[in-house]
Parts: sequence; C-alpha cells; structure tokens
Amino acid sequence: MQRESPYPMVSVDEAQRLITAHITPLDVEVIDVLRESADGRVLAEDVYGIEPLPDVPKAGVDGYALRSADGDAPRRVVAEVTAGATPGLRVEAGSAVRIMTGAPVPEGADAVIAVERTEERDGVLIVQHAPRAGENIHTIGQDIAAGQLVLARGTALGAAEIGLLATVGRARAIVYRRPVVAVLATGDEVYEPDGEVFPGGVRDSNRYALMAAVREAGCLALSLGIARDDVNVQRAAILEALDRADVLLTSGGVSMGTRDLIKPLLAELGTVHFGRIAFKPGKPTTFATIERSNSERLLPLLTFGLPGYPVSSLVSFEVFVRPALRRLQGDARPDRPQVRVTLRDPISPSPDRPEYQRAIVSWEDGRLMARSTGRQGSSRLLSMLGANALLIVPAGTEAHPAGAELDALMTGPLAPQGMSVL
Ligand code: AMP
Ligand code: MG
Repeated sequence: MQRESPYPMVSVDEAQRLITAHITPLDVEVIDVLRESADGRVLAEDVYGIEPLPDVPKAGVDGYALRSADGDAPRRVVAEVTAGATPGLRVEAGSAVRIMTGAPVPEGADAVIAVERTEERDGVLIVQHAPRAGENIHTIGQDIAAGQLVLARGTALGAAEIGLLATVGRARAIVYRRPVVAVLATGDEVYEPDGEVFPGGVRDSNRYALMAAVREAGCLALSLGIARDDVNVQRAAILEALDRADVLLTSGGVSMGTRDLIKPLLAELGTVHFGRIAFKPGKPTTFATIERSNSERLLPLLTFGLPGYPVSSLVSFEVFVRPALRRLQGDARPDRPQVRVTLRDPISPSPDRPEYQRAIVSWEDGRLMARSTGRQGSSRLLSMLGANALLIVPAGTEAHPAGAELDALMTGPLAPQGMSVL
C-alpha cells in the first residue's frame, strides 16, 4: 500500500478549470422540435422571428372596433369580424364593427372598446367612455418584431422556448447531440441491488444514482455494470466506454487501497489531469482524458473517477461532472447559481479542506435560510435527501454559528418554508 498519493492536491477552482479546458461542445443534429421530445435539448443556433407578430393589427379583447375621433357618440354597428377573418373591412366615421379577440382590426378603426364597456341596441352602439386611440389594439410586431432574435444559441429548451419555436414557425431546429455517459461501478463487495445478499456486500447504489443524475443533466446514461477489482476486468470496461460513450464515470477504486486500480489504469490508457482535490467529500476524485484511435467519436473520452462512498460520488458529480456535461451540450449557463445563505443550524468546518455540506434552503423572513440535512458522513446517503443546496464551508477550525452567512450552490428549487427531512 502506498502511504502518500503521488498526485498533487489541486483546488476546486483548479480542478474545474482543468476539466473545462478539455471540453468542447459535441456535434449537432437537427430535430423535429414539435413532435420529438425536445425538452431539455440545447439550441445550437440563433433563432429569429421572420414575420412580425402580430402580422396585422389585432383586437386584444372582444368588443367593437371604432374611431376614437367619434368620442363618446353612439355608432352604427355595420359588420362583425372574427379571428381568422381576412382583413379588408373599413370602419367609417360614426360606425363600429363588432370584433372578437385576435381578429384583424378593420382599416379606419384606431381603437377597440371592450364589450363590457358598451351596450348594443337595434344596431346602435352606446359606449361608456370615449375610446383612446390605440386602445386594446395589438400593433404589428408588438410581441415579436420582424427579424428579431428570439432564442440564442446555448439556450436549453423548456416550455416557453418550445412555444417560441412554434410561434416563429420553426418545426425543426439545430441542437447539440446528447452526450452518452457510461457509468461503471467497481468493487468486489459491490452487487446488484436486486441480487442475493452476502455478508459484507454492498448494494450498488452509486451506478443507479449517477445514471439518474446523468439523465437529469440532459445526457443518455449507459450502464457498464459492476467490474470486479481486477485490472483486466476494469480495463475491458474502460475500453468498452471508449467505444460507446462520450464520457465515462467510474465509482470506487480511486483511493489508496491495494484494490484501488482506477487511477493507474487511467494513467496507462490516457492522461490523468488531476488525481486529488482539496475538497470534501471526494478528495480522490480523478479526471483523465483517453484519446481514441478508431472511433466515430472524435473527442477524447472524458473520464471521471468518482469515489466509492455514495455521498462523495454524488457531490463530486454535482460540483465537477454536471457543469462539464452541460458544457458538452453547449449550454451557455452550465453552472448552478451561487447564493448567500444564513445558517439556521451551527456548522462545523473541516480543518483541511473546503467542505460542500448538504443543506435545505428556503426563503424565510426575507432571506435565504439554510438548515443542515444532519450528519454529513460520506457513506450516509440520507444526508442528500431533500437537499437543494451545497453549503460551501471553507476549511477552518471555528464553527459557524447559527445566523452566520455562507455561500451555497443551489442544486434544486427553493424548499417550502420550515421543510425538514423525514
Ligand atoms: P472505494 O472507493 O472503492 O474504496 O469504496 C469506498 C466505499 O464506498 C466502500 O465502503 C465501498 O463499499 C463503497 N462503495 C463502493 N462502490 C459503491 C457503490 N457502487 N455503491 C455503494 N457503495 C459503494
Ligand atoms: Mg473499491
């Protein structure tokens, strides 16, 4: 057993910088945004509206199109125009046209009075007030100007974005390819969660948790199963990833034990960019790139050796892998938001490394309040439960009292007030 890791300790920032330096967005593809599932895909092009919206002046409410110059005098109702009708009608002085929301405003009319503000009797319209010029008329290009940029490259598609693509008539759009992320568990003690229990065995939670995190990050997860702590078995698994994936995540086998084989294997097959981070939980997290010779994929295989402890592997994923996966998809905003939070509970730092502690952040009394998810052990997966934030606790020896402020990465939406776990 080695007593000291040969890998220099890098800072969190340095590790993130080294990873980012090895990432370029993947290739692109054209998808049918209306019929295929486009949710979460990242646009690889700028999208413009060609025609103005609306293309003709339209009624914003159900009512009557009329001329403001006629003031509050009664008008003759001469016609009716509904949404979808061809423009062409004209409103002369002293007359009005019954009009429905979304219908083209007839020429001559410069206002639409809402039906609630009128009475109509025997073809004569009485108005409750003199309409203002422009009242209730949606002008040409009011919502989208002709040629306006509506969506920028790097935007992730959600409901509003898909609605906008449909609005400007873009049934097809260029998006970045989804990265294929292979996930490999390692360990002689690790077995399938639905397999037969054996003394000292550990159910493989990491592979399933990581695959879910990979999908949540917009990627396609590919399971490579569980590799025994055997250098040939693990090498074969890495070579399989080289063939089939853009990114490989391994779990376990990156520490100092005699059966921790991942680091030397990555050094044998590729280049290890760092093998130790001043970071808790997840100090042995490793990042390597492996060049490919005969593969359709041009970029090297980005490989993250994540620690075996369940919390370490998920927190390392969040801090180092997720932003990388978002960058690979061309996301212009790959990072989680960082906010300032007030501690509800006292927090003890780790003496030698910044620690990313799991917390539940909610809006209380006009500020973001963070409560701890309890004991922060690396094996205690329950400390991830309900967490929507990682508190960034700088290395130190003094506890941070309740009421103190710390930075936090928001990993999920704000929690309801007073929420606690279990
Ligand atoms: P290792 O980094 O391989 O030394 O593993 C560290 C700890 O994490 C050990 O207690 C392992 O049993 C545990 N562990 C490793 N892989 C997994 C996994 N896939 N799921 C859950 N726990 C694991
Ligand atoms: Mg192991």
